[in-house]
Amino acid sequence: MSKLKLILPGVIALALVHSAVAQTREDLIDKVDIFAVNFLNNLQQLSFRDRVEYCGLFGIDDDENIVATPAQVGEEYGCDISDEAYSTPGLEVIASYHTHGQYNADAYNEVPSTDDMLGDFEEGIDGYISTPSGRIWAILVDDSNAIQLCGPGCVVADPNYQECTAHLPDEQYTVESLELYFENDPGYC
Ligand SMILES: [Zn+2]
Repeated sequence: MSKLKLILPGVIALALVHSAVAQTREDLIDKVDIFAVNFLNNLQQLSFRDRVEYCGLFGIDDDENIVATPAQVGEEYGCDISDEAYSTPGLEVIASYHTHGQYNADAYNEVPSTDDMLGDFEEGIDGYISTPSGRIWAILVDDSNAIQLCGPGCVVADPNYQECTAHLPDEQYTVESLELYFENDPGYC
């Protein structure tokens, strides 16, 4: 029994660790992370096909299940989550989600935008973003940052995707360091 007592706090602590950086899909342990990755994986194809972003909310319903509001169709660069989604009856909103659509060599869509981060911070919720390479970013409101939760290929990638090795994203960003990433674009790949 003493061994159990020793192990138990460790297990509890592990369960509270949210979203370690740059894991593989198989390594994910957080239930919301796993739900988000599976959900966004399914949305990727639709997003590539229609060449637009899709967005919505994740939350906890009355039966304690993690659920998603229906994906809304956005634009090529942007997707506004409706007030109706935020006020879904019985839904405790925990995070936003959106796809970044198809590969575009001229777009910074492998990372969140600063507006993505600021929007979630303003709402007081986390956020999940899938990118053309199949990366998943988690915006963490409590940590005031965004982390690359899961690397390229974590979810379905755009077959046309090409990695820009001269301007690879870091594993995590604050709003300030993300602005620096955009400013330090070398202008070539
Ligand atoms: Zn975005």
